[in-house]
Amino acid sequence: MLQKSVVSVDMGGTKVLAAILNSEERIIARVEEPINPNSSKSEYIGTLANIVKNVINEAGIKKKDIEAVCLGVPGSVNPHSGVIGLAPNLGLQDFNIKEKLQEKVSIPVLIENDVNLGALGIKNFGVGKKAINMLAVFIGTGIGGGLILDGKIYRGSKFVAGEIGHVLVDKNGPVCGCGNRGCFEAIASRTAIAKKIIDDIKSGKKSELTDMVKAGERIKSKSLANAVANDDKIVIKRISDGCDVIGGVLASLSNFMNFDMIVLGGGLIEALDSFMLPKIEIAFYDHVLNASAEGLKIVPSKLGDDAAIWGGIALAEEFLGVKV
Ligand SMILES: [Zn+2]
Repeated sequence: MLQKSVVSVDMGGTKVLAAILNSEERIIARVEEPINPNSSKSEYIGTLANIVKNVINEAGIKKKDIEAVCLGVPGSVNPHSGVIGLAPNLGLQDFNIKEKLQEKVSIPVLIENDVNLGALGIKNFGVGKKAINMLAVFIGTGIGGGLILDGKIYRGSKFVAGEIGHVLVDKNGPVCGCGNRGCFEAIASRTAIAKKIIDDIKSGKKSELTDMVKAGERIKSKSLANAVANDDKIVIKRISDGCDVIGGVLASLSNFMNFDMIVLGGGLIEALDSFMLPKIEIAFYDHVLNASAEGLKIVPSKLGDDAAIWGGIALAEEFLGVKV
């Protein structure tokens, strides 16, 4: 029998990525399309329907061999009803995307929060295969978390579990995108670390990122990694401070949940894992209870952006009871 596949769609504010994959043949095809950030809901749905069609053509697979279209949404999602509660980067709120896309696509449509999909991908196809209680943390523009408990994704009462980025670290800290002060991601995300570096440079401290900051360019993870490799004191100090906070928060959550694995991913970690992980571990072991840390592993994801793509397979298997 021919192996069935899923289409996984990673929805972004500026681009949409779609891939066709199954557990046997892996990722068969992928298509990426830019999206107009000002597009209306119906235009956005049109783009999604189009990219699904395009990736199917690209893979040369018949529609009947695809079990599901899985949407990874950067926001709060009810995977049962198909409603996006709030996806700030997409400009969507209280919107039943599943229903709307289903009008244009004949394959069953499923939706899930992109971080949860990332955790599912890591659990089923990545370093988390043997994990039973696992926390996946993605550190980049913001900080997202996904929970696997007793081998299954844990979504919470209203499907918002895992919002580790909004755990309180310092009530007098910087204002977070959520409106509160001192959230974890307002202190230790790439955006937050970059902001500190920008302030340092503006106050006259020397860094190889000075020209970039003066030109008003966005500081990407790659630039931070280059600066670290070149022994840039400012960048090293600010990232090290971030690692200290990250290790502390992970230790607190570990004490609370007693994980057997913590997986770290996201743009900042991918660019700097060999520099950051040892520092995160020092802060982690400084605060974690011995009993809670026993047998626990902290590992980098290695799946990159594909983690959420892989999660589509697990979602289809969970909601449709199919094997892909
Ligand atoms: Zn927040």
